[in-house]
Amino acid sequence: MALPTIVASGNGTSALATGIRILKRGGSALDAVEACARLVEADPNDKTVGRGGHPNVLGQVELDASIVDGTSRAAGAVAALRGYLYPISVARAVMEKLPHVMLVGDGAARFAREIGAERARNLTASTAKEWRAQLRAIGETPASIRKRKDLVSRVWKMAIDELGTVNFLAIDRRGRIASAVTTSGWAYKYPGRVGDSPIVGAGNYCDSESGAAACTGFGELAMRLLTARVAVERLSRGASAGRAARSAIEDANGIASPGTRLSIVVLAKDGTHGAATTREGVRYTFMTSVMSEPATKPRALVPRTSTK
Ligand code: ASP
Repeated sequence: MALPTIVASGNGTSALATGIRILKRGGSALDAVEACARLVEADPNDKTVGRGGHPNVLGQVELDASIVDGTSRAAGAVAALRGYLYPISVARAVMEKLPHVMLVGDGAARFAREIGAERARNLTASTAKEWRAQLRAIGETPASIRKRKDLVSRVWKMAIDELGTVNFLAIDRRGRIASAVTTSGWAYKYPGRVGDSPIVGAGNYCDSESGAAACTGFGELAMRLLTARVAVERLSRGASAGRAARSAIEDANGIASPGTRLSIVVLAKDGTHGAATTREGVRYTFMTSVMSEPATKPRALVPRTSTK
């Protein structure tokens, strides 16, 4: 049986000790990944997740999150959720309290209110300032952009290369696997844009029989390829975690356009893990129940070579 282990994208490092504490006292993988995700969601300094995450083109912070229980294969997700502090917990409540998997937008916010989820003003002074600076650079103001009927051209000008997400994959003492992904998505996106993070199978997937996988980067790639699901499928067919991660990025490279990028973390049910990326210098992080602090490792680099 694998040691209790959590694997995360690099920006999850500071949450790992909390998750491992839960696993060490016999807590579930599901509780561990949710607790880790909540810590990053509440951190206003992570501009890619939760409170303090980048807003859409209109200055609204729309959050996406999903959680998967690899043992029951139940899943819950929210997308384009506004005004709540812990999208991952709302996603978990969708899984546990409704006969549904995913809620979006106003429906997700209505449900969050109904279950008494904690509200938050997710646009911080610092992300509001950056949004206004981006607007200024394209000759807009908050008032002018809100009045516009045409946002398409603005999004092409604004939607810069600022993405990010946090991934957590965990195995508990009983060998149960769970995964959580949460994000504010693509900075200055078109309102209502949903990425791969809340799409079960695209940005997040796990199965206690095989392992778990989750993505960061251009969600549009992972959504088209069902990247996380395919990676877990490869584990089930005997690929190592490292091989499953590299193949996932090779697949993405086959359809990627210039400037896009994708990264993946993979955890196999025996506790081995791997990660791959299209971009140099991206690391991932992990911690097991016998480690006193998290460790980080470089991801395998699978650069895009085609000119497509
Ligand atoms: N995958 C996320 C999305 O497309 C963003 C990211 O991880 O960089 O929304």
